[in-house]
Amino acid sequence: MKKTTGSDPAVTARWRPATQAVRAGTLRSQHGETSEALFLTSGFTYDSAEEVAARFAGEAEGMQYSRFKNPTVEMLQQRIAAMEGAEACLAQASGMAAMTSALLCMLSAGDHVVAGRAAFGSCRWILDNVLNRFGIEHTVVDGTDNAAWEAAVQPNTKAFFFETPANPTMDLVDLEFVCGLARSKGIVTVVDNAFATPVLQRPMDFGADVVAYSATKLMDGQGRVMAGAVCGSQQWIDDYLSPFQRNTGPICAPFNAWVVLKGLETLDLRAHRQSENSVQVAKFLEDRGLRVLHPWLASHPQHDLAKKQMKAAGPIFAFFAPKGQQQAMALCNALELIDISNNIGDSKSLMCHPASTTHYNMGAEGRAAAGIEDGMLRLNVGLEDPLDLLEDLDQALGKVGL
Ligand SMILES: *Cc1c(COP(=O)(O)O)cnc(C)c1O
Repeated sequence: MKKTTGSDPAVTARWRPATQAVRAGTLRSQHGETSEALFLTSGFTYDSAEEVAARFAGEAEGMQYSRFKNPTVEMLQQRIAAMEGAEACLAQASGMAAMTSALLCMLSAGDHVVAGRAAFGSCRWILDNVLNRFGIEHTVVDGTDNAAWEAAVQPNTKAFFFETPANPTMDLVDLEFVCGLARSKGIVTVVDNAFATPVLQRPMDFGADVVAYSATKLMDGQGRVMAGAVCGSQQWIDDYLSPFQRNTGPICAPFNAWVVLKGLETLDLRAHRQSENSVQVAKFLEDRGLRVLHPWLASHPQHDLAKKQMKAAGPIFAFFAPKGQQQAMALCNALELIDISNNIGDSKSLMCHPASTTHYNMGAEGRAAAGIEDGMLRLNVGLEDPLDLLEDLDQALGKVGL
């Protein structure tokens, strides 16, 4: 592989985000292809037995086996690391493989985790059903409440784990405060940044140690593949994540890595356009008299914090059918353009009723405690002309008496 200016981290660190998204991490084969090459190979061959021995001893650079390293996956990792401002990144098979690996690789029996209460359903499931079984306990706090984070810290607290904005309540965590608190106590902060991506929010700029992604969402952005990524310091990756991942194997397939690489090229454009579209749609619903939770609207209780730590709020927000679940479902059914789907980050606008889908497994009590009401709807605003989306919402709202 030939190096390019994009494969020199000292150069890519100086680039602006849109440039990093297109060029960081690029390696070229002897053919000099413009688009990143897709290496669909599990193994590699060597010129000599001494060469392979040197690679296994860590004395020579190069590939050995795609569970350890693959050139296409390597390009994706370098590109995400550059965009995140991180020293290193490893890619995984899905967002959940990323979250599970980030936690399991460094936690041991007897450790304690503090987690934000509003979280992706499977993230809560890992805490309740996987970590618990291995003697790793956790406390769930209202992530918006700085004092609650402080009060939940125990002598054995090893990690803080949260999303911001959180799914689907759009609660924010004060990154500077919570990451600063963790630093002062030697606690590792793991931020699930899937909603915002590094284009809209870089948690490491506020002191986060580890940033984990579902690349399935806005990074791919066109609903094609599952993938994940975890960013951290070189030392954290070398000491914890890399050995864990090399030996347990939740790795990203080269094809999926290639699709996400191409997705990243348009991420800056998509993230900003979808954010603008989503503000326009959210305002329309608010003007219609509906309760809306959108961090970029002045009505959001943490609007000032959103403006401080995010460049834009992203494509996703929540709103409420005042009469509850039946009306919320009827509204979904009345849509003609916007699809009913639990996916997010897609260039297609998608609506979902969290209480009966993504957050169904939490049970009514769990949902009430997490602020997920029966009438709540989550909307991912895509790249369609927002006027067409407003027309669709207008006719659908009319059909359910709103
Ligand atoms: C989707 C999502 C995940 C899980 O990612 P997958 O790629 O579906 O495994 C984790 N966290 C958040 C915030 C998500 O939106």
